[in-house]
Amino acid sequence: MCGIIGVLEETDFAPQMTLESLMSIQHRGQDSCGILCHNENVILKKGVGLVTEVFSNWNTQRSRAAIGHVRYPTIGTDPARDAQPFYVNYPYGLGLCHNGNIANYCELKEELYQKKRRLLSQCDGELLLNVFAEELIDNDIFQAVENVMKRVLGSYSAVSVMADKKGKIIVFRDPWGIRPLVFGTRDGCCMAASESVALDKFDTPVSDVRPGEVIILDSGNIQRNQLQRERNAHCMFEWVYFSRPDSVIEGKSVYEARLELGRNLRLESDIDVVIPVPDTARPAALGFSEQYGLKHREGLIKNRYAGRSFIMATQEKRQQAVSKLNVIKSEVRGKRVALIDDSIVRGTTSRKIVSLIRNAGAREVHLFSSCPPLLYPCFYGIDFPSKRELIASRGEISTIGADSVTYQTMDGLRKAIGLEDLCMACLNGEYPVECCTTQFEIMREKEREEIVCQEC
Ligand code: SF4
Repeated sequence: MCGIIGVLEETDFAPQMTLESLMSIQHRGQDSCGILCHNENVILKKGVGLVTEVFSNWNTQRSRAAIGHVRYPTIGTDPARDAQPFYVNYPYGLGLCHNGNIANYCELKEELYQKKRRLLSQCDGELLLNVFAEELIDNDIFQAVENVMKRVLGSYSAVSVMADKKGKIIVFRDPWGIRPLVFGTRDGCCMAASESVALDKFDTPVSDVRPGEVIILDSGNIQRNQLQRERNAHCMFEWVYFSRPDSVIEGKSVYEARLELGRNLRLESDIDVVIPVPDTARPAALGFSEQYGLKHREGLIKNRYAGRSFIMATQEKRQQAVSKLNVIKSEVRGKRVALIDDSIVRGTTSRKIVSLIRNAGAREVHLFSSCPPLLYPCFYGIDFPSKRELIASRGEISTIGADSVTYQTMDGLRKAIGLEDLCMACLNGEYPVECCTTQFEIMREKEREEIVCQEC
């Protein structure tokens, strides 16, 4: 999972706006980040770390068009080499970054190799850029993106900057609309971003980029074209966990969805106090306590300088993040606690938190997950690729140590989000987009702790 920004701004403040917007979507990736723009020269700055770290001494450039990226890795092993955006000189001078995961990465990489296009990284964003560049040589932008959509399988919400004349921004989203992408215009400024919060910052009205749609942002001129259409398959996990609660995706408020997820949880035990696992589960805990008339308290405090544990790249880092949680003992001592979490993935965080609350003197700990059991790997950009890593899939939920574990139902999830056309493949195994066999190979390799595709 990653976050992307594209800005076209007539008074050449696009890089500054991109930088500010990247900070508002930092939660989507903390591994690396980058910005690409151009004036007389191409300016590409990217590096490993948070936006504030990588751009701490940056002399902000002036440019009409800029794109930016924050990265959470799902493929590749070297964060510096795999940081986005990427750039190719020909045709036009073209930069691109994306959010998603290319399911037929290895086949396309081999295809490019046969045509003498060599890639510098293991990042699928560079691959997407090269496929797009190749298609642009003999086609106009619409045709080129349409051809990209025919060749590239998986999830990709992309922003591209083209260095012709004064620069333009091209925005496109895969035909299933798996990852979110919004855009808006205001006072001669056009923006596209992974989440609406990035546009809110500049008071820019927000619309969704439709699945399979391309939008060209040029000076005062917006061209839209619906190129491909498959069944919509928006990732349910954006509402459950990934997006900021103040974002609106596909017209559905993330905060409202999370409140409703809490209301839809079944209650079968006597409870004295409801406690959220910070930060994502807070709205669900509020909805749950309102629904059942239960006392709601903050019983777990997180050191705000620790990152989000799920998006940390290694198990070791996730363990460290969990250790940044502390219990307010007076809120749990002698009580029957309903602990509300957004989801249970590997069980690492849940096991540790249940034990923290027990050790603080809770009489009973009942764990509630606002997401149904995660049983299958995700090939579209969320890092739970192996069934072996998923605690529900291993049938080991009892090892978490709670007195009871209650999951959201599939129906409760659908109702809370309020959309029928969702991707739920990690819950029911029904994948909206074909995943090639090589991708399964990558998964098996990853299980052996080597993120290397033997066929490449
Ligand atoms: S498999 Fe799950 S996490 Fe992956 S895109 Fe689909 S719903 Fe989202």
